Amino acid sequence: MHADLLDILRCPYCGSRLDLVRSLFHRADGDTISDGVLGCECCVFPIVDGIPVLHLHPAAVTARGHLEAGKPDLALRAMVGLDGENEAEQFEAAAASSDSTFKDIVAALGPRFEAGYFLYRFSDPTFVVADAVVRAVAGTVLRGGGRALDICGGSGHLTRALVPLSSPAPVLADLFFPKIWLARRFTAPGAVPVCCDGNSPLPFVRGAFDFAMCADAFMFIWTKRQFVGEMCRAVDGAARATVLINHTHNQLVWSPSHGQALTPSAYRNLFEGVQPRVLAESRLFAGVVKGDGLDLGYTDELEALNREAALTLIASTVSDVFAVHPIQSPKPSGGEWRINPLYQVREETGLIRATLHFPSPDYEDEYRACREYLPDEVSIDAAALKALQDGGSPESMWEWVRRRVVVELPRKYC
Ligand SMILES: [Zn+2]
Repeated sequence: MHADLLDILRCPYCGSRLDLVRSLFHRADGDTISDGVLGCECCVFPIVDGIPVLHLHPAAVTARGHLEAGKPDLALRAMVGLDGENEAEQFEAAAASSDSTFKDIVAALGPRFEAGYFLYRFSDPTFVVADAVVRAVAGTVLRGGGRALDICGGSGHLTRALVPLSSPAPVLADLFFPKIWLARRFTAPGAVPVCCDGNSPLPFVRGAFDFAMCADAFMFIWTKRQFVGEMCRAVDGAARATVLINHTHNQLVWSPSHGQALTPSAYRNLFEGVQPRVLAESRLFAGVVKGDGLDLGYTDELEALNREAALTLIASTVSDVFAVHPIQSPKPSGGEWRINPLYQVREETGLIRATLHFPSPDYEDEYRACREYLPDEVSIDAAALKALQDGGSPESMWEWVRRRVVVELPRKYC
């Protein structure tokens, strides 16, 4: 981490400024700190492999002990959550190789880490709508500059969209250290990772950000009232202060991995004094998939919201946010254009024939809405795909990009 991050970090418990404890073991190159211990007025926190860990869960306490003993490698093992020697060596070998992909390192982290479908994340229906909302809202709010926070951002799949929009660089915060570690290397290089607990006060100074978001995670936060208060505090005083909560489940409608969801009116009341816009995700999804645009200005009636599986909440001082945003083709963010990994591919002379193939019946069931944009069979002009991959913009490819048959994946993703 760069030492200037200390200007916006604060202890989550006493609120005081944090500084590197120079009398304890640390490694730094100029203003870049890779390992060490941060101290405030009430406690001490580790910096592990360049990532500040601002909570007191057992792994963080163990890691701090290893750092004080001058053993940064063991501190990293503790934060990654590898107990066995074999597991740890597998991870360290994969991490040390510059050829390793995101998929290789996920495999080395073992089955406990990612049971899910990260390979298909860039085309799943939740992502497709959330990505469009993030680009529209953050793109509007941060037009003249400003900093973004993605709290509970996991492996950074949506933070990736914030990297070109946020200046200074966006902060990606999450409790799960290996996820933000992977994000820094693969999915959201350029974002600044901070490890912290969303159920505690956020470790940032008031008004450090202009835009704060939380996607696909709010229903898993227990301290929701505090969390919303903390997101509002993080942007307090900013001229274009905006809080976005994407894809939070509705207590009234069952969904897989339901979490501790609230009703639409309870979500609205959490903001106390600010009137957030509560939007129906299925309506936003339809606008994105049909290419009609993303209507963030529409007022969804409470009865309609009560029937929704998932909701989007926006509190913003920027009136331009609450408008119809045209659907833009996904913009390249330094990755590479590939055929969506959900397709099985065979090549014929000059043509790529791709067939949709779900990894499991569970995936097909949970994400069946992707059939609204992913066709069963497609034939793609191989030369046009090659031109796109070489930096051109062949018109025939944009339909496939818009429909997520061709996706931009981070480099060395799989
Ligand atoms: Zn403190």
